[in-house]
Amino acid sequence: MTATVRFAPSPTGQIHIGNARTALFNALYARQRGGSFVLRLDDTDVARSREEYAEGIIRDLDWLGIVPDRIERQSKRFALYDEAAERLKKAGLLYPCYETPDELERRRARRRARGLPPVYDRSALKLSDAERAALEAEGRKPHWRFLLPNFETDPFETTRAEITWDDLCRGEQSVDLASLSDPVLLREDGTYLYTLPSIVDDIDFAMTHVIRGEDHVANTAVQIAIFKALGATPPVFGHHNLLTTASGEGLSKRSGALSIAALREAGYEPMTVASLAVLIGTSDAVEPMADLDALAAQFDLSHVSRAPARFDPADLDALNAHLLRDMPADKVADRLAALGVPGETAPAFWEAVSGNLAKFADVEAWWRIVDSEVVPVIEAEDRDFILEAAKHLPPEPWDGETWKAWTAEVKAATGRKGKGLFMPLRKALTGLDHGPELARLLPLIGRRNTLARLA
Ligand code: GLU
Repeated sequence: MTATVRFAPSPTGQIHIGNARTALFNALYARQRGGSFVLRLDDTDVARSREEYAEGIIRDLDWLGIVPDRIERQSKRFALYDEAAERLKKAGLLYPCYETPDELERRRARRRARGLPPVYDRSALKLSDAERAALEAEGRKPHWRFLLPNFETDPFETTRAEITWDDLCRGEQSVDLASLSDPVLLREDGTYLYTLPSIVDDIDFAMTHVIRGEDHVANTAVQIAIFKALGATPPVFGHHNLLTTASGEGLSKRSGALSIAALREAGYEPMTVASLAVLIGTSDAVEPMADLDALAAQFDLSHVSRAPARFDPADLDALNAHLLRDMPADKVADRLAALGVPGETAPAFWEAVSGNLAKFADVEAWWRIVDSEVVPVIEAEDRDFILEAAKHLPPEPWDGETWKAWTAEVKAATGRKGKGLFMPLRKALTGLDHGPELARLLPLIGRRNTLARLA
């Protein structure tokens, strides 16, 4: 079965690594099946939604390598939601309620006191036309509830009504609709809660699979009932575990710290972020994947753990270094060219330094060391040794063997070995006491630069 999936963020802030996890799960699921991926911007809350956030989401997905096959905005689709609401009203499945939040709270408290579950008692269904008219004359506006199919003929005599679904992550799930309140679909100010627009769109865009965070598990049974009331077959659902911060708190769009934009600006590679976002909290090893195809080959929704997964930004550092170390030179050719590394030198340079980078940006300092500006560090006690070493520098052309041949000669001439031999040379050549293998760096630095640094 192919798949049509969606990622449905509301553009009310920047997306974070947890949202990216949902987006990637969907995108990878579609990629594995040659399916399509819809970005649905849930912007029915016009007051809180902003175009700049919508654009930010598109940019963040693009950075992660996700290009939606289709982008839709709910704010352009109100006519469809109104039409669906009308259909439900006509069928008697969406009914007006006039209770205020206070009244509802008092009723819930009374039910709890009597040992009953605090579900809505459907009193509004008992109102006569005249009573409704009187309430409206008082200035009350209704909110609208969906009548759950949890009764045979009398809505005040609820019966067990199991809704079951085979969750892609959680396996067989079952919820008794009798234990739930009729959900409010429309607020008294006429605005929609998320539920109905989401279902109307899932039907209209022919979603085959809904993959989302487990904070939505509790909504699913009600949503399945509404899909059916609208005459549609519900999609397959999958609810994955959520990410928390390292200290266990939920991630929020408002916090900003773990936003994709912040991680991008911090210089992480997109595949570092994508690999961690997908593989954390699963039974698979967290390893850097070279691209989304490799990640798709690895990814399996049934490997997702049930417990929330703690996201520690420190994990990104090790993963990023690992990814860069494994990255072939042709993948960074453009970025190296932009730093001024000549095309013919780039592969050898990358080979030399890629294992010594935390972030790609670190490559610039190594290029400077290879290409020009080095302040050699030569300790007073090493001065003569360095001058002696310079005398043994072989003629060019140089290759990967030059360093070994040169240091063997210097060793024979000076009697120095080990660290006493190599460290003064490293500090003179690079100005640093650590870094890539000198056997690789030396031919890149070249004889002229080397001699200048040993002078
Ligand atoms: N806009 C909803 C959210 O961000 C979408 C939920 C869903 O995938 O159904 O939570």
